[in-house]
Amino acid sequence: MGHSIHSQHRRAWCAHVLGQATTVFKTLPVLFFTLVPALASAELRIFTCEPEWAALATEIGGEFVTTHSATAALQDPHYIQARPSLIAQVRRADLVVCSGAGLEIGWLPALLQKANNRNVMPGKDGYLEASRYVLRAGQTDSVDRSQGDIHPEGNPHIQTNPHNIAAVAKALGKRMGELDATKTKIYERNLDDFLSRWDAATRGWEERARPLRGTRAITHHKSWVYLEQWLGIVEVANLEAVAGVPPTATHLSKLTAQFSDGGADFIVRSPYQDARASEWLSDRTGIRAIVLPLTVGGTDGAQDLFSMFDDIIARLLEAQADE
Ligand SMILES: [Zn+2]
Repeated sequence: MGHSIHSQHRRAWCAHVLGQATTVFKTLPVLFFTLVPALASAELRIFTCEPEWAALATEIGGEFVTTHSATAALQDPHYIQARPSLIAQVRRADLVVCSGAGLEIGWLPALLQKANNRNVMPGKDGYLEASRYVLRAGQTDSVDRSQGDIHPEGNPHIQTNPHNIAAVAKALGKRMGELDATKTKIYERNLDDFLSRWDAATRGWEERARPLRGTRAITHHKSWVYLEQWLGIVEVANLEAVAGVPPTATHLSKLTAQFSDGGADFIVRSPYQDARASEWLSDRTGIRAIVLPLTVGGTDGAQDLFSMFDDIIARLLEAQADE
């Protein structure tokens, strides 16, 4: 809309002061479109990099948001293709929510560039990097980086600690209210409701998981460091010698020797990770290999954020009881 046309109408408005009905009718639509906040649609369109943030946005936004996750629960969020369907989703998005900390470095920059939606570029209000709102674990040094570690900005898998989910929920709810001022109060109310249910659930999980304190885990990838910190589980080894480098025969042989007389309680992998390395080590050491949902939808039991943590803890306790 041209600035000069706007000024012209304003001058017309002042000059006639309701004197001429035609001027008023010409002027009103211009003012209307100028003053109403420009939202692309009635619903806030939220594009997330991972399913857990789509689930969280739905908890806060309910019927007033639409969500679309770039990655599915059975995909490795480190590696996906910037498909045309995803580019179209980002182009239409009002808000993009990603874990960040380098998790999506292999595909998100290309996706944002191709979508060319300036409102959701990093640094804009339409982009929210979830890991900025938590204390990142495992910031590695330059030596690890040169060896191929894919977590140089700290560990990005923050969703495995419910306290992190709560911190992101607060930032996300606030941001949604800023982007859609007509529903700020609704988002605030939903956020408060979610947080009170979430806090109660978190206390329940902490109570149930108490027997897990001090248990020892070998994990496929460094996907579970926040869960371990939260529940007092000790990570004793990884199947990947360096984060992001697939398990090698040499490394697995070394682990077999190291854990042949015990020293670990679980071998943990995510649903999208190849089972062979876990099972191979489990066969040779007798240590239980288990699958935990890394996000919503990762297992049949993990239908939402609440049941995801229910399922993670139930699976760990079950494995412990079977020892
Ligand atoms: Zn990772």
